[in-house]
Amino acid sequence: MSLIVQKYGGTSVGSIERIQTVAVKVKQSRDRGHRVVVVVSAMSGETDRLLDLARAIQPRPSPRELDVLLSTGEQVTIALLTMALEAAGCPARSYTGAQVQVRTDSAHNKARIRDIDGGRVMGDLESGRVVVVAGFQGIDEHGNITTLGRGGSDTSAVAMAAALKADECQIYTDVDGVYTTDPRIEPRARRLPRITFEEMLEMASLGSKILQIRAVEFAGKYRVPLRVLSSFKRGEGTLITFEEDDVEEAKIAGIAFAKDEAKLTILGVPDQPGVAHKILGPISDANIEVDMIIQNIAADAKTTDFTFTVHRNDYGKALEILKDTARALSAREVQGDEHIVKLSLVGVGMRSHAGIASRMFEALAREGINIRMISTSEIKISVVIDEKYLELGVRALHDAFGMAQNG
Ligand code: ASP
Ligand code: MG
Repeated sequence: MSLIVQKYGGTSVGSIERIQTVAVKVKQSRDRGHRVVVVVSAMSGETDRLLDLARAIQPRPSPRELDVLLSTGEQVTIALLTMALEAAGCPARSYTGAQVQVRTDSAHNKARIRDIDGGRVMGDLESGRVVVVAGFQGIDEHGNITTLGRGGSDTSAVAMAAALKADECQIYTDVDGVYTTDPRIEPRARRLPRITFEEMLEMASLGSKILQIRAVEFAGKYRVPLRVLSSFKRGEGTLITFEEDDVEEAKIAGIAFAKDEAKLTILGVPDQPGVAHKILGPISDANIEVDMIIQNIAADAKTTDFTFTVHRNDYGKALEILKDTARALSAREVQGDEHIVKLSLVGVGMRSHAGIASRMFEALAREGINIRMISTSEIKISVVIDEKYLELGVRALHDAFGMAQNG
């Protein structure tokens, strides 16, 4: 008999009807002989509604009191789902984070889970009950209610699965799995039956937002098999798991992209120690996150050019800062472009197979797409291209690596 943790997000429990549908699904899993722990989010829109209430009193409400308020959203759902389960003839019991001792640090609104005492939950499971636990919340060492940050119920579920040594953590959401790329851009995108944790982290951080990144990291660290699947459709979803040893083919998981990028270049800066720091120091002091960085080889042995990318929202500020730096360094010129995007090819197969980069560049060249920047890691190749080529680029790569659905 296996132990499964199932997590249902806000849309999956967005109405009484949907909560009843979830109850039926949970009951089915239990009837099949599984021991089931359910972790739930607040009903969709509820956390935002509570936030608005708080902000109507104070633009920056006290973080401690905000946690007391926000944690009520999940408390509503655990009670309603447990009632629905019992009404469907399935014995169940609900618990808040504090009741099952989801212990966190004291960083209100963005707390991190330290440990969970699974004893009480195990007791209920042994008595044949389904256990329904509030996601997103915990308790610190002083007994204060804490919350884990937006989307935190995913992490609650994974942490619960790790603490109970569950056989699988299933995340039920409104998509039926992880796709090779965004189906809105490439309609022939295919659901991946499996993907590795590493690949998932690249896909998620690059814009395929399905799961809270922290939950994926947590699952990788504690070796919790994680499955993403739809609350509304049948299917196996996508299993996020470990790399198989025998990667025979050049496996590419998918294509991720980041739309909101901008790039900045400072031309003719002195080619000497400390310059990269002088350029990027003020940028990071302004809390602007830098993604790709390229420094050219000095053409004349005296000066060089330096390019980096930032989020488009930070473009104006970064440009201003860079102009000041240019004056201080007597650089020749500053250039910027806020109409760029980043495409990334992701796959563990890159580790063992040469020629993937050249196949990628060839596919882009065939479409006449100019590559502005390139960066690589063990399992990823990213290129910066003009915004207008985003769709063409994604489709060209999807084709070139044979990712399309058959038929
Ligand atoms: N209810 C919280 C939120 O909306 C946590 C979650 O849904 O995962 O962010
Ligand atoms: Mg969510």
